[in-house]
Parts: sequence; C-alpha cells; structure tokens
Amino acid sequence: MASLRSFASDLRHFAKYHLKRRVFDHPAREHELGLVELPFEDAELADSLRRLSDRYDVDRVEGIEYGGRSHPIFVVTSRRKDNRRALLVLSAVHGNERAGLLAVPEILQRFDEESVRLIVVAPVNPVGAAELSRYNGDGFDVNRDFVRFETREAQIVRDVFEREKPDFVVSLHEGPQDDTFMFLNRYVDLELAGRLADAIERGGSTLATKDYFGRTLHPPGVAPMSTAVWAVSWLWAATLRMKATGMWCDDRGVPEITLESSWRNPDRETRVRPHVDLVAAIAHELAADR
Ligand SMILES: [Zn+2]
Repeated sequence: MASLRSFASDLRHFAKYHLKRRVFDHPAREHELGLVELPFEDAELADSLRRLSDRYDVDRVEGIEYGGRSHPIFVVTSRRKDNRRALLVLSAVHGNERAGLLAVPEILQRFDEESVRLIVVAPVNPVGAAELSRYNGDGFDVNRDFVRFETREAQIVRDVFEREKPDFVVSLHEGPQDDTFMFLNRYVDLELAGRLADAIERGGSTLATKDYFGRTLHPPGVAPMSTAVWAVSWLWAATLRMKATGMWCDDRGVPEITLESSWRNPDRETRVRPHVDLVAAIAHELAADR
C-alpha cells in the first residue's frame, strides 16, 4: 500500500515536471520536495561579475521584466579569442536551484586554461532566481522549452550556443536526492565522466549512489543516457514537444552534463563546491585533449 501511495506520488511529480511546459502563470515557489533556500541577491552577483571584468567580457544581454523591475541575464566570456575549445556553462535554468549560480564567481576566479574559451550564462532564469522559483516570470519551465523556444530565456541559450559553437556544455542544477550526481547525454565519454566524478569527490563532495528516479549509479555520481532514457526523451519531444538542454545538445552531437547537487543540504559550501570543481575539471580535460 505504501509503495502504491509512493508510486502515485512519484507519478504526480513526474506529471508535474514533465507534462507541462507552463506549470503556473507566475514564478511559483514549491515546498514539497524539501528545498532549503540559499540566499541570493542579483546586485551582489552583478558586482562580483564586474570585479572580474579585467579577465572577462561581462555582457548584460537581457533584462527580463517582472514585478516592476528588470532582472539581468549576464553572458560572461573569457577574453582570449584564439582558443581551440569552447566550454559553455548554464547556471540557474531552474531559478530555485541556486547553488550553481552562487558558484559562478568562484568558477570564473579559478578558471585558467589558456586554450579553452569559457562562456557562462548567469543566470539563465533571473526571475526564477530572484523569486526562488523553478519557473520563469510567466510560469514556464525553461528546461522544457528546447523544442518551441517560446521563452526569452531558452532563446538566449540558443543564441549563445549558435554563436559560440561549444565543444562541451554543462548545466548547473540541484535536485531532491541526498548527494551529487551528473546526468550525461550520449556524447559524454564514460571514462571522462568517471574522471570528472573522481574530481568532484577529490574536492570533498559526496557522490550519489542513486539518482532521483531511484536508479542505482555505477560508478557513483554518474547517470549516463541509456538507450531507454534517450527513447523516452525522443518520444517526449515528438509527442509533447518538450526538450531539456541535455537532449537538445545530444541532437547537435555536443556532449552535455547536467550536474545535480542536493537542494536538501542546508550548507551553502557543500552545495556550491561540486559545481566549481566540475567546471574546473571539464576545462582541464578540454585543455588536455589534443
Ligand atoms: Zn533543475
């Protein structure tokens, strides 16, 4: 009975997160999955990005209007233009998953690979980030909008992708599981994923042994896109015309990792750390890959 009840609840959650691109008509907050809020101020982020403008081009590419004010989206790009490889980082596609956004200044400070061009979108969903909402100002889940591109936020990601032609994409998320893991699309090499998981663990983070669907992860922290998952994603796009960044990059033959830290953890540092370590490790791998 208990398992039937939890199955029904799982199904309800699946329907909520996968059947509608527009779940609300506003940036709704949610409480049922135990998310612990990490404080975020967009003025503080803007200041710390500007302080890095000796090393990076910091462009305020858009202001999304909500609640009588403009919420900025920044695209931050490392300055050298002759790099062989490009790494695109997406932060806060889901606005309430703030750890990856709070990690951005440290990601930029730590980055020092001359042969890699780093591009960071911070935040993809600024209204959600300000309002502690998964959704944008109109209640859309931006990470379901990579077929129709009806949201300005998804359009901006598409524009940056098309301009920069990244060799690798990482999208920084959080989820209700206890520890950290990565979803991979089919273009992420499994040996590389193992090394990236090791780098996350060396940084002091604990790797999850199950993802939030309850699948066991071998090795810990690594959730590859199986043929079944790919087929479900394909059907999902074909029937409901919804797609997340991982599958969208997969269609383009570009490796994408969606990192998921635990939003249940009250400790800011524990949640931010894997985002910083993963981006540094991917940049290092791209620089070493000749
Ligand atoms: Zn997310």
